[in-house]
Amino acid sequence: MREYIAVSACLLGVNSKFNGSNNYNKKIEELIKDKTVLPICPEVIGGLTTPRNPSEIQDNGTIIQNNKNDVTKEFFLGAMRTLEFLKNHNCYTVVLKNGSPSCGKYTYDGSFSHKKVDRMGVTAKLLKDNNFKLIYID
Ligand code: SF4
Repeated sequence: MREYIAVSACLLGVNSKFNGSNNYNKKIEELIKDKTVLPICPEVIGGLTTPRNPSEIQDNGTIIQNNKNDVTKEFFLGAMRTLEFLKNHNCYTVVLKNGSPSCGKYTYDGSFSHKKVDRMGVTAKLLKDNNFKLIYID
């Protein structure tokens, strides 16, 4: 059986991004060659719609959309469901979209002013803490 690899769905061209578009990246082709791909989108499986307002992680750990709506619960639910789904498939290698409050290695500072911070997205952190191999694509 071919090895599984999970990929942020938006990197594969799925329109799961907050603004209803995607982050297709050609670099993905080489990484998924000869593997069985599991597309994941933590924000969608956490219950958020597409399109949706953009969200950023705040200093106190909550996740707030730019209209002040608190989506912390959906983000953590999405992360937990992603973890469970990948464990069920014995898939421990994941390619993630950098900069996302779910999937990123870096994220933004919570002020919606495009300032990057060295703070992982919710799903990325949970997978890292569970010893997954994470590969990031900007
Ligand atoms: Fe892409 Fe992750 Fe955002 Fe979903 S949550 S749109 S997979 S970056």
